[in-house]
Amino acid sequence: MKQEFVRAVPVLEQLEQGGYLAYFVGGSVRDSIMGKEIHDVDIATSATPLEVKEIFGHTIDVGIEHGTVLVFHEGVPYEVTTFRTESTYKDFRRPDQVEFVTSLREDLKRRDFTMNAIAMDKDGCLYDPFCGREDIENQIIRTVGSPDERFSEDALRMVRAVRFISQLGFEVEENTYRALSEKANLLSHIAQERKTAEFQKLLSGKKPKEALRVAASTQILNYYPELDKFTERISHFLSLEVSECQTFEEWLSVIALTSSMNESMFKEWKLPVAVIKRIKALLLGYERRKAEFFTRYQLYELGIEAAHSIERVWAAYSGQPAEHDRIDDLYAKMPIQKETPLSFSGNDLIKWSGKKGGPWIKETMKDIIQGMLDGEIVNEKEFVKRWLIQGNNQLKNN
Ligand code: ATP
Ligand code: MG
Repeated sequence: MKQEFVRAVPVLEQLEQGGYLAYFVGGSVRDSIMGKEIHDVDIATSATPLEVKEIFGHTIDVGIEHGTVLVFHEGVPYEVTTFRTESTYKDFRRPDQVEFVTSLREDLKRRDFTMNAIAMDKDGCLYDPFCGREDIENQIIRTVGSPDERFSEDALRMVRAVRFISQLGFEVEENTYRALSEKANLLSHIAQERKTAEFQKLLSGKKPKEALRVAASTQILNYYPELDKFTERISHFLSLEVSECQTFEEWLSVIALTSSMNESMFKEWKLPVAVIKRIKALLLGYERRKAEFFTRYQLYELGIEAAHSIERVWAAYSGQPAEHDRIDDLYAKMPIQKETPLSFSGNDLIKWSGKKGGPWIKETMKDIIQGMLDGEIVNEKEFVKRWLIQGNNQLKNN
């Protein structure tokens, strides 16, 4: 059993000593069967949230209406969720009511996919009534029970299916795939924030293109603002052999370029402001990179990581080979880099010039940095001072 589980065993034991059933469930069990790193060890129990709170001194209510209480053991938080069924689904969304039950099987039955419906006890024994292990072995995403019913209950599960394609590299089982196509329209009932959160995980996974292809061919992509208008262009793009991006923002920038999306459209995706800002910077960087290779000044302003990030977006969208080595070479040879502390400040410029502050400071800073990058100015305070004073005298003399 993985170390993360071993560390959490006392939580199961405490629940069992209280007379309740308790198991590890969900993504961590799936990932450990796959031999992957695990995060977030989740626990399911027959104890009700109130009973869980009685057993553990320090708890936090994180979703008590859904039966989830956060429990701490040796400083590590664990989500402990009461076995439940989800009977009444309104509007193809999360149930507004959950019913707590005492049967583990019932709890596993309400979970989305067979691979996510496996429980593990404190000795590492698996309880797997829907043959999730076999599907994990065959790398198959299959709903627990009828996919039509499960997607009608909660349409978000369809986006979860495609994000697991990307995260795990699995394929969607045939009948589940058919249901994706047939029920995709139900995604119009799902809040954009939740769809976007799953999309973010999709684009952060290891096989985003495969997942996007399925999302495009099943029309799931149509339920993301703006993408519905450009399905052909996106599908065409996905059929090309394009180089890989690395982050969610990079991929989303490429998708934005493919579908002529602009900033205001991202707001409809309900993306966090910080994310929109990063995408905007990537798109601006892309436009410049499209016009010409990075200048030293651009590399100085961007820093090496941001430049490589823009390069990936440019290469993926343009279909041209990325020139990462050229960036590294140019960057390494620059006399100053983004990280280099400057020997002078804006205040120094004011002092030396005797002028009042104003927009000229920024302009002069830029000239000095450009001079340093060109090898004409040395990054030493005295040198910069001399350069500034001589320059000003020249100006006066002219
Ligand atoms: P990750 O590794 O990305 O966290 P996960 O499988 O743990 O993947 P979570 O969103 O953390 O996904 O959900 C935990 C578990 O809850 C899932 O494994 C699944 O059993 C169940 N679950 C989550 N969302 C749904 C849903 N919409 N319908 C049914 N079961 C769900
Ligand atoms: Mg999880």
